[in-house]
This record gives sequence, structure tokens and C-alpha cells, in this order.
Amino acid sequence: MTAETTETSRPRRVAVLAVGSELLQGQIVNRNAAWLSSRLEDLGFSVVTHLTVDDVQADIEAGLAQLAAAAATIFVTGGLGPTSDDLTRDAVAAFCGAKLEFHAASWDHIVARFKSLAMTAPESNRQQCFYPTGARVLTNDAGTANAFQVTAKRERGPVEMWVLPGPPREVEAVWTAHVEAALRERIPAAARTIKRSWRMIGAGESKLAEIVEPVVKGSGVWVAYRAHAPFVEVKVRFPAVEKERFAPLCARLTDVLSPWLWEQDDEDVAATFVSSLARYEGVEIYDGATLGHLAELLAPGLREAEGRLPPMSLITSIEVDEDPRATVEQCLGLDTDAEVALAVSGFKDSGDADGGAWAAGVRVGERTSIVERPALWHGTAALARQRRAVAALTVKLWNELLAGDIN
Ligand code: ATP
Ligand code: MG
Repeated sequence: MTAETTETSRPRRVAVLAVGSELLQGQIVNRNAAWLSSRLEDLGFSVVTHLTVDDVQADIEAGLAQLAAAAATIFVTGGLGPTSDDLTRDAVAAFCGAKLEFHAASWDHIVARFKSLAMTAPESNRQQCFYPTGARVLTNDAGTANAFQVTAKRERGPVEMWVLPGPPREVEAVWTAHVEAALRERIPAAARTIKRSWRMIGAGESKLAEIVEPVVKGSGVWVAYRAHAPFVEVKVRFPAVEKERFAPLCARLTDVLSPWLWEQDDEDVAATFVSSLARYEGVEIYDGATLGHLAELLAPGLREAEGRLPPMSLITSIEVDEDPRATVEQCLGLDTDAEVALAVSGFKDSGDADGGAWAAGVRVGERTSIVERPALWHGTAALARQRRAVAALTVKLWNELLAGDIN
């Protein structure tokens, strides 16, 4: 790469600096860098470095200097809190050669936040109201510390810093409210890309590649596979301006992948399933197959739908029969007040080495439907993956069976 091309692409080069001893000591992993990078790449930026430094002002400044040599934009996360180990704002100010100035509206924000929790704002939180001269304050709807954006003048050109809090949900809140739209504008339409994704269950990476490759070959799309058991994700990316041209290719992929397809793009099957339960008078779920994976899968949707759901119970302590269909039948036949009962069963003993099957069913009012399916993998080694996959497949099946109930 020539010096010239490096400079031309520099405005789109981004680096992420995480601040915090907890990260360095292995107590937490750097989720902020992963989350921000994924968003930045989606927008068309290129993330060139991740760096983590301690809560030490000189280390933060040195980190900024190192990253400024490689990128025109730096995201900084962490160390904006009210305690003496929160030194990010001091380091950024020093890096800019600027003083810290008090911002009264930020103090009002903190006072209001504490008040909403019936508390009085401690004086120590005033520390969170200082920003380098010239910074733009970005309100943080998810926490006390507002974020800020500031530009440092360096010999090689300006270095823009987006300085965000540490807690991931606050990073997301500030990103959504302030950062995303501002950055999106900077990418010329011709450089924007679209990512499409398909999440599959029940077929391995290499098998899916054999199916996908003939469809994408020679088309110019960028293709990637990501296995995260029990799923395999297939992603393609192409220039946004060529959306029309790639539409048939995407439709073809949906078609060839349909036997294993679980979710597509931003679809959230589990959350959709949970919110679809709102229309019933009461729901009972019997899980004799997944050892908690089902509960794990449904948990985010349950939290999201809080207050909108009927009385619901999830029962895992059921007597599991050798014959999964018999267990499901028995659960669905129990005499309860719930309008809907949902059951899944399978893999009674961790043996089930040669085969095994599972069954899932629903009862709505008096009507019952049950489906039986063979195991996806065989042998005890695959059992945990099997249970996770069955949790996902069951949710999909229940969705279909309940949709049949409305139609
Ligand atoms: P606070 O006001 O909560 O102290 P802060 O802006 O000072 O916020 P930190 O003290 O650096 O941020 O981090 C607060 C918490 O946020 C950490 O204890 C950790 O749980 C989480 N956190 C911080 N940085 C990261 C990161 N890079 N990835 C994931 N979690 C993080
Ligand atoms: Mg802190």
C-alpha cells in the first residue's frame, strides 16, 4: 500500500481504546470493542486497532497517541465514573492540550437521574460534569455520565475522539442517540454496504458452504460463515447501490437454505414467540428435553415483554418417558386452567447414542398437535449441542403450530 492510499483511506480508519484494570486483569472481557467494531464495520468504517489500557492517566494518554498514528477517529470507553480511578476525561483533555470545564446541564442530568431513583446526587458525581474545552456533550439516557466528542489537532491532521462510558448498555444508548447518525452521514452512498444473514440449525459449515458456493460464485458478493454451536450463520455483504442486482441472489439463498433456516437478518424467533403468547389466557410450558436451554432462549423475550404476558409457568421437573411422544402427550393432557400448554421431550438418558428422537407439541383449548423428530446428531458428545438445538427448533415448531391455531 502506498503512503497516498493510506492517507486517502485514513478518514475511515477507526481505533477503539478501552480503559479499565478489570479488563486487563481478566475480570471482564471487552464487549464494548466487539460491539462498537461490529457497528462501525456495518457503517463502512474500518476498525484497525483495539487497545486496552489501565486506569492510569499516562497510560491512557500514551494509548491515544499510539492510536492517533493509525486512525483519524478513536472511540474510548470506560473511566468516566465519579471515582478517583476514573481518569479518562483528564487524559483526553491533556491529549487535546485543553482544560476541563464544568458543564451545568450535565449536573442537572445527574441530579434528575438520582431523583428518579428517589436519591440525592452525591457531590462526587460533579466530577462527571467536566469536559475538555471545545467538546460536544452527548447525553447518556442510560446512566449518569454523559459522553462527549472532541477533536485534537495533531500534526498529521485532526483526531476525533468519541469518549463513551464503560457499561455496555450505556455505550449502546449513546451510540444510538448520537453517534450512529453522525457517522452514517460521512460514508458516501457509493461506499455503503448491506449485510444479509441466514442462521441455520442442523447442517454443518462445510455442508452449507457446498450449497451456498454455487449460488454466490462469480457474483462478487463477500461471503462469510460463522459456526456458533448449534447454529451456523451465513453472511453476505454487497454494495448498497447494487441492492437490486443482488436481490435475486439473496432470494435464491433463502430458498436453498430453507430446510435448516432458523432466523434471517435481524429476526428474533424466540422474542417473537414469547410476544405471541400475549393473546392467550394462560400458558404452561413443559421442558423434558433441553435442561434449561429453552429457558435461556426465552429469557430475553420474557424480560422485553414484561407486563404484557399472561400467567405463565415453565416446568422442568417432569417424568420423562423413553418415548418422547408419550411424555409430550401426557404433559399436554394434564388438567390445568391454562388455555395453552406447550411441551417438548427427548433424550431421556445421556446414552441415546444411536439415534434418539424428540417430540414437541401444543395444546390450545381442547386441540392438540404433536410432532416427532429424529435427533440431529448422535452420541453422548453431541448431547449438549443437541439440547440447545432442540430448544431452538422447538420454539420454531411451537411458533408454527400456534400460527396454525390463528389461521
Ligand atoms: P461507572 O460510572 O459505572 O464507573 P465508567 O464510565 O467509569 O462508569 P468503568 O468504571 O470503566 O466505566 O466501567 C464500569 C463498568 O462497565 C465495569 O465495571 C464493567 O462492568 C463495564 N465495562 C467497562 N468497560 C467495559 C468493556 N470494555 N466491556 C464490557 N464491559 C465494560
Ligand atoms: Mg468507573
